[in-house]
Amino acid sequence: MENQTQTGQDLSQLKSMFSDYQKKQTQSTNRKSREDLLAKYFVPRKTKEIFRILPPKAGKKHIEEAFFHVVTTNAAGGKKKHGTVIYCPAHNDPKVPKLGPDGKPLLDSNGAPMLVPAPCPLCARNKEWLAKQDPSLKGIKKENMNDMQLVVKAKNDEIYKEAIKWDAKKFYIVRGIDKGMEKDGVKFWRFKHNYKNQGTLDKLLPILEDYMTSQQADFSDAMTGTDLNIIMTDSEFNGHVYKAISAITAKGKSPLHADPQVMQAWLDDDISWRDVFLPKKAPNTTPYEFLEMVAGGTSPYWEDTDQTNKHWVFPGRPDLEEKANTRTMNLDSDEDNFEQASDLNEELPRVTISNITPDKVGTFTDDATDLGKETLASAPVTSAPVVESSVDDNSDADDNVDNSDMDDGSSDYDDLPF
Ligand SMILES: [Zn+2]
Repeated sequence: MENQTQTGQDLSQLKSMFSDYQKKQTQSTNRKSREDLLAKYFVPRKTKEIFRILPPKAGKKHIEEAFFHVVTTNAAGGKKKHGTVIYCPAHNDPKVPKLGPDGKPLLDSNGAPMLVPAPCPLCARNKEWLAKQDPSLKGIKKENMNDMQLVVKAKNDEIYKEAIKWDAKKFYIVRGIDKGMEKDGVKFWRFKHNYKNQGTLDKLLPILEDYMTSQQADFSDAMTGTDLNIIMTDSEFNGHVYKAISAITAKGKSPLHADPQVMQAWLDDDISWRDVFLPKKAPNTTPYEFLEMVAGGTSPYWEDTDQTNKHWVFPGRPDLEEKANTRTMNLDSDEDNFEQASDLNEELPRVTISNITPDKVGTFTDDATDLGKETLASAPVTSAPVVESSVDDNSDADDNVDNSDMDDGSSDYDDLPF
């Protein structure tokens, strides 16, 4: 084993310490700018793209599942931006203790804290709408409904249409290399689940399975895996032109890269989708508050239409708007900057998990697939880059907080909206 020395010592822990320190060095000196983050998105848009799926990191899957809301937000020039993809804390974060009316955690019959999904204002909005449906039609088939019931059904359908606008959508995320842009290193290809089985996953899986069967090899293996050709085409729907995948093919067995050093660097990179698809926020605003504003139609945005007057707009919140636009060095230092002793995270999990067994946790299975001990034991993604320069460097505002992939115009290249 490469982690064993000649005297049989296991160096894997020490190795991970060195890589952790290296990671922290680069994090503190070189926070990811918006461009750096976008370079981590693989969004097929050329007629032909070549992508290589990387072998999954320990404990992870080849194809991960995560949840994002796809909603309308406010945008520069007073416009509305449709299809903004926003991280859902309820489906992606570790569960949190359920609190009683006294503010104390509720315990189950075994004395373990009851856990519930982390609060998400957009999921809450979805539930509010669903609750407005008339339940009297439950179990009645449409063909057996009388005229009165059909009227109720039509109303229920309208409510449902509104409700699903706020629902968290399931996405798949694949970690790999864009062979047309190798300098960007490891990237993430995120695509939406398609209930009609006409999505990217439905095109990808048969190809990957066929490769496995015919080659008797893992498609993601660094030596015996395969690059994938992705052929894109224009597809029209509802008057909009979308880029859609017309075909995916396996190119055949090949090493990940001809240069073993490049290959090793890619394999060693431990960036995860959580480092890239960050929760959205705005200056002096937590991701939770940001979601609340999205739910209320007052999401803040970076107004950059006038090159000489770029600034933040907080609809209906002049106080926050002023604060956001008068930031000065260090005054708005974020809690993300607050460093703590290195043994704290491991010793003090955010959620007490000692008494919890899988059967006590319940059956909210719709979670991101990489939720595990690791995420439970440390705070969820707080690595969002921190706003720290003064506002005259206009780029900082949007570099650091507005990290939606859709801001680069890639909404045109999203999956077809059905
Ligand atoms: Zn949500």
